Formats: sequence, C-alpha cells, structure tokens
Amino acid sequence: MDARLEAIRDTVLARNPGEAEFHQAVTEVFESLGPVHDRHPEFLEAAILERLCEPERQIIFRVPWTDDEGRVRINRGFRVEFNSALGPYKGGLRFHPSVYLGIVKFLGFEQIFKNALTGMPIGGGKGGSDFDPRGRSDAEVMRFCQSFMTELYRHIGEYTDVPAGDIGVGGREIGYLFGQYKRITNRYESGVLTGKGISWGGSLVRPEATGFGTVIFTQEMLKTRGTSFDGQRVVVSGSGNVAINAVAKAQSLGATVVACSDSSGYIVDPAGIDVALLRQVKEVDRARLKEYSVRRGGVSYVEGGSVWDVDATVALPCATQNELDGDAAAKLVRNGLLAVGEGANMPSTRDAVAVFQDAGVLFGPGKAANAGGVATSALEMQQNASRDSWSFEHTEARLTEIMVGIHHSCAATADEYGDPGNYVLGANIGGFVKVADAMLAQGLI
Ligand code: NDP
Repeated sequence: MDARLEAIRDTVLARNPGEAEFHQAVTEVFESLGPVHDRHPEFLEAAILERLCEPERQIIFRVPWTDDEGRVRINRGFRVEFNSALGPYKGGLRFHPSVYLGIVKFLGFEQIFKNALTGMPIGGGKGGSDFDPRGRSDAEVMRFCQSFMTELYRHIGEYTDVPAGDIGVGGREIGYLFGQYKRITNRYESGVLTGKGISWGGSLVRPEATGFGTVIFTQEMLKTRGTSFDGQRVVVSGSGNVAINAVAKAQSLGATVVACSDSSGYIVDPAGIDVALLRQVKEVDRARLKEYSVRRGGVSYVEGGSVWDVDATVALPCATQNELDGDAAAKLVRNGLLAVGEGANMPSTRDAVAVFQDAGVLFGPGKAANAGGVATSALEMQQNASRDSWSFEHTEARLTEIMVGIHHSCAATADEYGDPGNYVLGANIGGFVKVADAMLAQGLI
C-alpha cells in the first residue's frame, strides 16, 4: 500500500478498534487508491480519505419487543449514515445475530463506492440489528419491526435516508417496517423504503435484481475471454434472495448450477437446480435447504462442509462476508475455475482475492457485481417520485444497461490505470473518484 495512504489507514484502524470487517473493507479500498492520489494531490490536501472513513452520522438504539410467550426481549438497532455526497443515504438493513457496529460500518463503507458506480444519485448507508428472525413467528417479526421503526423513523425519509433489505430482511420485513413508518408519520411516503410489494409502491425486478445483476456483470467478464454462461458449471453459495435469483439467471443463460448452500450445509444437484422447488422450499415454506434434497431425487445434501469443494467453472458467492478463504479459492482454481462474481458483500477474504487474481481468474468484486440491487432500488425511488410503475421488461432492460455500464466503467478505469482486467482496482478507483470530486465541490462538510 502507498505509504501516505497506509498512515491514514492506520489512524482509521486505531480510531475504530475491534471492527475487523470495517478494517478489512477500508484496507482493501486503500490498496487500490495510491495511483489516484499521485494524479490528484488535491484529494490528500482536502483530507478526503479521512473524511470518507468517518461516517457522517451513526445511530445506535435499543429495540425492545415481546416474544410470543410475552417475554421481553432487547436487541440493538443500528443505522450508519456514511456519506451523502451523491444523494440521500441508501443501503439495506441486516437482521442477523452477528450484526454489530463493525459489520454495519463495513457494509456502509462499501455501499458508498457501489452506489457511486451505479451512476444513480444515491449516497451510502447501512443498518440493521442483532435480531435473529430465524425460527420467529410472523407476529414476533412484526412486533420487532414495529419497535425498530419506532426509533428509526425519525432519522429516515425519501430525501434523507432510504433503507432496503439485506440478510434477514425481505419483503415481509419491509412490509412491517413501512406500515409502522406510515402509521407514525401519517404520510404515504413510498420513497422512504425500497423493496416494497408491487401493489404498494414496489418495483418489478427489485427482488430479482441483485442476483440477476451479479450474473449480468459476470457474463460481461466472460465475454472478454470470448465465452459466456452457456455450458458453464456453476456453484452458488447461500440460498437466500441473492443466491436464488443468481441461480435462476445463470440457468436462463444456459449454465448448469450444480450446488448451493445455507449456513447448515449444501446440496449438490448434478442435473441443475430446480429453481421453482428452491423458491418453494426457501421463500414460501421458509424451510432449511436440506428439505430441497428430501423433496427431489438424485440430490445429495452435505451437512456442514464447504460448498467450494464442489468443482465449478464459475463461482458465485451469494451468502455472507468472508465465506470464501484462500484455501477454498486455491481448491476452486485447481478444479478449473474461470470466473468469480460476488453476489454477497466481501464474501472473498483478501487471501482468496489474491489467489484468484494471481491465477488469472476473472474476479468481479461485490461492490461492482452486486450493485444491481441498489441500482434497482434507485429505479424504485424514481417510480415512487413520479407515481409511476414500469413493466418488468423495461425495468430489466434498465438493470441490464446499468450492469453493462458498471462493467464497462470498471474495465475502462483498470485500463486507464495500467492494470487491465483488474476489476477490484477499477471498481475502487471508479467509485472513489466520483465521490471525492463531489466532496471537493461541496466544501468542507
Ligand atoms: P438472505 O437472508 O435472503 O440469504 C442469506 C443466505 O446466506 C442464506 O442462505 C443464509 O443461510 C446464508 N448465510 C447468511 N449468513 C451466513 C453465514 N454466517 N454463514 C453461512 N451462510 C450464511 O440475504 P440476501 O440474499 O439478501 O443477502 C446475501 C448477501 O448478498 C449478503 O452479503 C448481502 O449483504 C448481499 N447483498 C444483498 C442485496 C439484496 O438486495 N438483498 C444487495 C447487495 C448485496 P441461513 O439461512 O442458514 O442463515
């Protein structure tokens, strides 16, 4: 890392102790930014990096609720409003027991650059809670969401901060959150949340957008090697919103997706995953992935273990951060891997990224490859602002155009900075320069 940037990075780490994921995200971005600061010393003079690493606002709050037995439960809620240089803070809410400030800050930090890459007018933010929705009844989830929004509502708004879903927050949770926001504020402010149901202000394609977008980005990378998804053998991790839609899109382009996972284990379906069954098991029945292997013949289920043991030509990590380490990456490379598209945020460790890049594997980092979700959220905001709703075809065409554009801009930036094919460099520099220019123009705020 450039020595000037390393000194700033070290200060950031010291100011934010114990936040390993935030440290990792900052380090990974700083490693790309040396060449930009050679060309733009004004960014250093204006302390852009120091300001970027300090969230504009961090909100931490108590979320009390009662379970079905009438017991009082307490969780912790977070919203980190990181950077509003390009637009209102935008980023999802994550409900998972692992959530703490360091996770929310890593996600919020990544979101700044991701949102910039989309070309849409959205700043970066993220939030969530250490609440675990798994095994909770609908009524419990509703009471939790209502309590969460009872504090959050005062900080958000369509011109201020627009949350969406992430791990553990899907259409059901967005519904409960929106209902409570409307009740407290007495305003039908559709643009305050994205990922809404279609009949009450949501956008077609938003549920599919992150997974679809990841595959579209990866397809663009494959094209640079004269190939495509057609005929590829694909492994996907996770079996949530992003994973399921990545499976669907990859198979629609002619690939065979042979495996996917949840936090308990993975399935191998050599004939290619039956998307309708997967949706039924995960989205309708809210069952564990193992249930898929019970209902479909010829499928094996491996308890525990790593889905990355399954050989593939394309890997799409779509579960969570640091789920793919250096050893798993080396195994995938030995097994003939061509490309990786990150549907999740920071799923590959820094070691894994190095293994992929050293082996010449096409590697699409999450902040570029999974930007289709937030981009379509911005399209939802556009529809809300104009009180319109677009067709599936129109919205999907816009998503495709945006993902192809992000691929092009990452590739062009990597070329410009003398490292062709390095999408990590392209994404980090491309996103950073847009935000840094806007921050410079807006003065010392
Ligand atoms: P979901 O909650 O719908 O699904 C998450 C999936 O990942 C589940 O299969 C879950 O398994 C698995 N998972 C979660 N935590 C772990 C863990 N610690 N170890 C192993 N598996 C785990 O979330 P999404 O699909 O929405 O999100 C997946 C990833 O995509 C996240 O990194 C998120 O930040 C990122 N992302 C999501 C966007 C969106 O639009 N939803 C947009 C951009 C990025 P289990 O059920 O067993 O917990």
